[in-house]
Amino acid sequence: MAEHRPSLDADSLGDVEFTHRWYRRFLEALQEAGYQFTSFTDSLGAGDLLLRHDVDLSIDAALTMAQIEAELDITSTYFVLVSSALYNPFERSHSEALAEIEALGHEIGLHFSTHRYWPADEPPAAEAIEIRVAAEQAMLETVCSPVETVSFHRPPSWVLNRTFSGFRSTYESRVFDEIGYVADSTQRWRHEPPDVDSFPETAQVLTHPGLWAAVDADFDERVTQAIRDACTHSERATRQEFGTETTTGEST
Ligand SMILES: [Zn+2]
Repeated sequence: MAEHRPSLDADSLGDVEFTHRWYRRFLEALQEAGYQFTSFTDSLGAGDLLLRHDVDLSIDAALTMAQIEAELDITSTYFVLVSSALYNPFERSHSEALAEIEALGHEIGLHFSTHRYWPADEPPAAEAIEIRVAAEQAMLETVCSPVETVSFHRPPSWVLNRTFSGFRSTYESRVFDEIGYVADSTQRWRHEPPDVDSFPETAQVLTHPGLWAAVDADFDERVTQAIRDACTHSERATRQEFGTETTTGEST
């Protein structure tokens, strides 16, 4: 059985707040415990920690998180959902933000939604998944340099602990079942705080940047704010594009 790393000082973290301040302290605690932040493309050893972000709600929030990590000399991987209803990675300001995340030393990968193509209860053949993933990776390659690792969005059970040809998955056994796995999905850390005292010697930590901000707010509020921000962004960019005024009833 693998030996555990020295325990993190969980008490010093207090109750989980979905603030950048708490997130920074969490990362510092992991660093103090001796973890090395590594990449999905590297082989894993004792004390390695894979830090992953699924960009479900906001590329701007991802950039802010990427800056915090860079200040701590930490690198991670940001997985981008090209089928998002909330952002368009090909839109100029968003592709520039992705370039900035890469320039900070982080990696970018594809966040792939099977739901976009197949019902959750109708698993397709592996080859069909591989074809769709390759097509979306090629799209993402037009704005950044994605790694071959792919993260599935709201993963159906039939992608877990499975390997594919042509790409690695963040849910394959090597980086999911066989090591510690800690995720902040839907802000579950409020009632199930990350069990940092029992982190195994190798772990994957998943956070969703859009769930974190300067001031704490619950999951519903974060989603509502992400929708508002996306609408504001779309309006501003569209009005700039077509030179229209904000007054209703006018058009060009
Ligand atoms: Zn997702």
